Amino acid sequence: MAELKALCMKCRQKGPEFQMQTMKNPVVSKNEKGRYSAKGACATCGGNMFKFLSTADGEAMM
Ligand SMILES: [Zn+2]
Repeated sequence: MAELKALCMKCRQKGPEFQMQTMKNPVVSKNEKGRYSAKGACATCGGNMFKFLSTADGEAMM
């Protein structure tokens, strides 16, 4: 599976270089509009993460 990076609200407070963190155990889902999203945990602080995915990325990760 490709590595997912997402904005972490907690790590973001440490500075701009900490904004994008690797998402652990991402769970990909598709909403009623056909939009893919991923939920997971920040690899750095363990906080919850959420990210919208492109259709191509979402289909690749399902
Ligand atoms: Zn974090």
